[in-house]
Amino acid sequence: MRILLIEDDPMLGRGISAALAQSGYQVQVGLTAQAALHLARSSPFELVILDLGLPDRDGLDLLGEMRREGMLFPILILSARDHLNDRIRGLDAGADDYLVKPFALGELEARLRALLRRAQEPDLWRQIGNLRFDRAGKHAFVGEEPIALTVRELAILEMLMEHAGKVVSKQALFGAVFPQQTDSAPNALEVRVSRLRQKLQPAGVDIRSVRGLGYRIEEKPAADNPLPHTG
Ligand code: CA
Repeated sequence: MRILLIEDDPMLGRGISAALAQSGYQVQVGLTAQAALHLARSSPFELVILDLGLPDRDGLDLLGEMRREGMLFPILILSARDHLNDRIRGLDAGADDYLVKPFALGELEARLRALLRRAQEPDLWRQIGNLRFDRAGKHAFVGEEPIALTVRELAILEMLMEHAGKVVSKQALFGAVFPQQTDSAPNALEVRVSRLRQKLQPAGVDIRSVRGLGYRIEEKPAADNPLPHTG
C-alpha cells in the first residue's frame, strides 16, 4: 500500500512515516503542496494523508485541485483546525475523513484501514438523479421504488449507466441489447430506447440522443424535473 503523506512539519512527517512503515505501508512525504502534487501526478497512491496548513498553499485548495484532476484515492485530512466548519469544508471539498491534531497513531492507523477497506469494496450502485441501479442484482429503482423493465431495456440501461455521462455508440448498444443478432430491424434499438426513456422520466433522468454518435444517460436539468406533489 502506497501512501502519500503531505505534511510540512518534518518531525511529524518522519514520525508518521516511521510508524506507518512499521505497519507495512510504503510512505512518501511531500513537504509542500507543489512537491505533493508532483508526486501525486507521477506515481499511483492508494491513499493520501493531507495536512491543511501548508507553506505554499492551503491544503483544501490542493485537495480541490487533486479531485479536479481526477485523482480518486481516499484522502484523510490531518489538521489542527478543529472547528466543525473546517471539517465540513474538508469533507465537502472531497476528503473522505478528517482527523484533528494532536491524534494517537493508533487512531490514524485504524482510520487508514477503514478507508482502504472501503476503497476496495466493489462499487455496487450507480446513481443518476433519482435513478439507482444495482449493478450486481441488475435492478433499477426510482428512489426506493423498483422500475419494471424488460430484459432488453435492462441491457440498455446497464450499458448506459456503466458509461454514465458519456456517449455510448449505437453499435455498442445494439451489440449489448441484441447479442448475436445482426438482422434486427434498424429501428429496434430506437424503439426500446424510447420506451426506456419514458420509464425513466419519474427519476429525473433522460437518455439523450446525440446525433450521429449514440446515446447518453444524464440527469435532467432541475427545471425539467416534475415538481414533487405538495400537501
Ligand atoms: Ca502544517
